[in-house]
Amino acid sequence: MVFRIEIEKDLCISCGNCIDACDDIFEVGEDNYAQLVGGILDEDGFSFGEYPAISCAIEGAQSCPAGCILIFEDGNRIA
Ligand code: SF4
Repeated sequence: MVFRIEIEKDLCISCGNCIDACDDIFEVGEDNYAQLVGGILDEDGFSFGEYPAISCAIEGAQSCPAGCILIFEDGNRIA
């Protein structure tokens, strides 16, 4: 089972909610916007990463006022 998490950084308002909810998965980048711990930034402005377990990432996604955190389980969106 593989979980893929994406943050659409263009939509992030840097509120910090996701990090407060789940700092195993989310962190503040040098640009002061959220990014994924161990993640990669692509050319479209998404921070993404793949994880064997998602820990508290669902709570992090649910806490995001901008709706810019997406979580997929084996390719199917779950949050
Ligand atoms: S909760 Fe959403 S808007 Fe707030 S820092 Fe995290 S990704 Fe950005």
